[in-house]
Amino acid sequence: MRKVIEVRNLYKLYRVGTEVVHALDGVDFAIYEGEFCAIVGTSGSGKSTLLNMLAGLEKPTKGEIVISGQHIEKLGEEQLVKFRRDHVGFVFQSFHLLGTMNAVENVALPLSFRGVPRAVRLKKAEKMLELVKLGGHKNHMPNQMSGGQQQRVGVARALVVDPDIIFADEPTGNLDSHTSEEVMRLMQQVVREQKKTLVMVTHDDHLATYADRIFHIIDGKIVRIEDNRKDIKKEQEDRENEENQ
Ligand code: ADP
Repeated sequence: MRKVIEVRNLYKLYRVGTEVVHALDGVDFAIYEGEFCAIVGTSGSGKSTLLNMLAGLEKPTKGEIVISGQHIEKLGEEQLVKFRRDHVGFVFQSFHLLGTMNAVENVALPLSFRGVPRAVRLKKAEKMLELVKLGGHKNHMPNQMSGGQQQRVGVARALVVDPDIIFADEPTGNLDSHTSEEVMRLMQQVVREQKKTLVMVTHDDHLATYADRIFHIIDGKIVRIEDNRKDIKKEQEDRENEENQ
């Protein structure tokens, strides 16, 4: 499988007065094409710092971040803007939909930054809305939709540019638990069908279980990587062995 993200020996130190905070303290991992990975940890563990580095929003103090073959830590501001536009989709905790645009216009917005003609944009956006099961809501304004529906619009907008990677920062942080589960199931299904790589940050151990792999972060260190697929595979094998006995 193709490595989409590779992080090597990553450090981020912040100086606060005379103190030095080790927000990331020697992080190494690889994420492969088509994986759904969750980075899970308590508040202050370094999750946002890590996501910001991966998205090229902040520079590391030390270390390497290679995404789709590019060294992110070496790119200048303009190159980073281009990198994000060409390779990355974002899903935000607070949805970030424009209140003056309806659902389909919101989904189409990232395409307008790429000079895609309006008719093509809207057609693609409609297709994405159908994918997140909101085909019947394309003319709804954000304030005419529930939180869960708004986040599904957010997911469709992240997908519309056909990115290599989607970064999601606490995507269900503003939703109740039932709606959160629905949005997680949808994201899981959509990234699987579209063969996208999804990196989600959360403080919620339960929501992290939707991921293929779970990276546990404590005090800026990845202390454990859980492989959910292995567990699922093992369950299947155990069941088959039992049936064969
Ligand atoms: P999380 O997202 O897991 O809550 P963060 O990545 O936001 O954690 O923070 C990790 C650590 O780095 C915390 O101790 C936090 O206080 C510190 N930190 C984050 N950003 C800054 C900053 N801009 N300046 C100083 N310290 C920061």
